Amino acid sequence: ETLDKGLEKTQRGLFDRISHAIAGKSTVDDDVLDNLEEVFVTSDVGVDTTLRIIDRLQARVAKDKYVGASELNRLLCEEISEMLAENGETSSLDDFSLPEGNRPHVIMVVGVNGVGKTTTIGKMAAQFKRAGNKVVLGAADTFRAAAIEQLEEWGRRADVPVVKQKLGADPASVAFDTLQSAIANNADVVIIDTAGRLHNKKGLMDELTKVRNVMQKLIPDAPHEVLLVLDGSTGQNAFEQARQFVAATQVNELAITKLDGTAKGGVVIGISDQFKIPVKYIGLGEKIDDLQVFDKRAFVESLFG
Ligand code: GDP
Repeated sequence: ETLDKGLEKTQRGLFDRISHAIAGKSTVDDDVLDNLEEVFVTSDVGVDTTLRIIDRLQARVAKDKYVGASELNRLLCEEISEMLAENGETSSLDDFSLPEGNRPHVIMVVGVNGVGKTTTIGKMAAQFKRAGNKVVLGAADTFRAAAIEQLEEWGRRADVPVVKQKLGADPASVAFDTLQSAIANNADVVIIDTAGRLHNKKGLMDELTKVRNVMQKLIPDAPHEVLLVLDGSTGQNAFEQARQFVAATQVNELAITKLDGTAKGGVVIGISDQFKIPVKYIGLGEKIDDLQVFDKRAFVESLFG
């Protein structure tokens, strides 16, 4: 129900427009396919992914065959969920429990300022803690005072410790301290916030590489997850940010935020498909519980079902 409520705007947009695209049609003809193409492209699914969806749909439905609206929706659900599955699985389970193995489990979070990075980290911390884990946060976005303060605020809300240094400190040094503290305190999971400046590509790459290398002095296979946070309401900007971060560091999974505020939730499908990176979390509001582990099937069903 939270999912349906959070996706209400996208749902309404897509559903109405799909109904419109097939209104009065008795078969799936070129007109229907063209109309669907238009609906997806303008819902920020992206051109390449839209064409893949249309191709898959065409392969499923013989041209000019009669398909009722509900069957068309069902076929779209199936094809899109399958397509999302082909982008790989995230490392952890469908709730906020952690994968077996490494402790502390280290998650490095990247993304530009304003996308909801701190909020997402705060929500994750609260959920991991609720699932019985010992959590430590690291304030390695040392460039903005507000970033450190906000992370501390979320740390208080989630009731988990935050390791920080002063404004302008070396992010890699903060990451090192955080891991050291997590190891000393037998923490289960560490979440490291990183600087959200999109300076030039080399600057970003150097900074993230340095943070990574320093962490590996303490935990050779850290970080176990690199989570890129993108604002789902920014459409093409989100694609562009994904391009830059994927070029700068190894990104394993995505968090797409602010889906409650947009009718263009199709971006979730497009970005994951374009970059072949699975979506792990979706943000559906500003409150501590408004983060969900992404369930492809439920998501797609909520949109088309
Ligand atoms: P950061 O600069 O990337 O760390 O961004 P913040 O975490 O400070 O978030 C920026 C703004 O977006 C804040 O006002 C958050 O409350 C808001 N925000 C974050 N995630 C969501 C979401 O899923 N839905 C909505 N509606 N707002 C969000």
